[in-house]
Amino acid sequence: MALTLCDVGPRDGLQNEPDALAPAVRAELINKLAAAGLPRIEAVSFVRDDRIPQMAGAEEVVAEIERRDGVEYAGLVLNEQGFERLRATGLDRVNVTLGATDTFNRRNGNASLVEATARVERILAEADRPTTATISVAFGCPFEGEVDPGVVVELAGRLEADELGLADTIGVATPSAVRSLVKRTLALGKPVGFHGHNTRNTGYANALAALEAGATVLDASIGGLGGCPYAPRATGNIATEDLVYLLEGEGIETGVDLDALIHVSQWLETLLGRQLEGQVYRAGVSAVASP
Ligand code: ZN
Repeated sequence: MALTLCDVGPRDGLQNEPDALAPAVRAELINKLAAAGLPRIEAVSFVRDDRIPQMAGAEEVVAEIERRDGVEYAGLVLNEQGFERLRATGLDRVNVTLGATDTFNRRNGNASLVEATARVERILAEADRPTTATISVAFGCPFEGEVDPGVVVELAGRLEADELGLADTIGVATPSAVRSLVKRTLALGKPVGFHGHNTRNTGYANALAALEAGATVLDASIGGLGGCPYAPRATGNIATEDLVYLLEGEGIETGVDLDALIHVSQWLETLLGRQLEGQVYRAGVSAVASP
């Protein structure tokens, strides 16, 4: 099965930016990513505007998307109200997520692991379009430490999603752990994706390991958006353009126009007024220095 790259920048990335961008600007980012050839984009999250102002106006964002053939536009929902909002849009895919540990779910979603699982199961049962269920902190939890891979696989096996995602939310994994968990999750008989953060500089090696183990979806974020630049322990996503450079160099087709993607990061750098985490957009594609 071909690789699907999913850019989570408009959602996971911008959600963690200090400033909220207007829906029209967020839609412009999505349109630029689609034009660069990204096959899938996590466009919005349906949450309460007062809780996460960065994600306010999801419907307005979706309304301004210039749909392109061959691009799948996904939305993240955290509860049934969110799903009802997504249902009213033309988005193609429903993304749901829950943490692998009880404490992570309590801190992030105000629910126990049992309650969070039930909530995700209810959304999946109602979903009227393709679904991806991603298990956060699948390799390590900021509150509980190491996570038992057996627990993650057991949890994944309960979820009636079309596709399963494994997220290294705090960027602690190394390739052998990723390879092993991807393989065990694949045994459940569904496509598996990997969402890596580069907190400890293992994100790209992990993504490659996931792919070698059989993962068919890789998440990344344009420019590496996603780590709060003002947080002492920033946990940025891997940068899409850096991942594309790596994959294409390894002979793995992504379908993405790397030059176009680099232009998107340059545009974002100006827009946000700071240097982004990604390195390829600054170094350039060619080894030959430009005049
Ligand atoms: Zn992330």
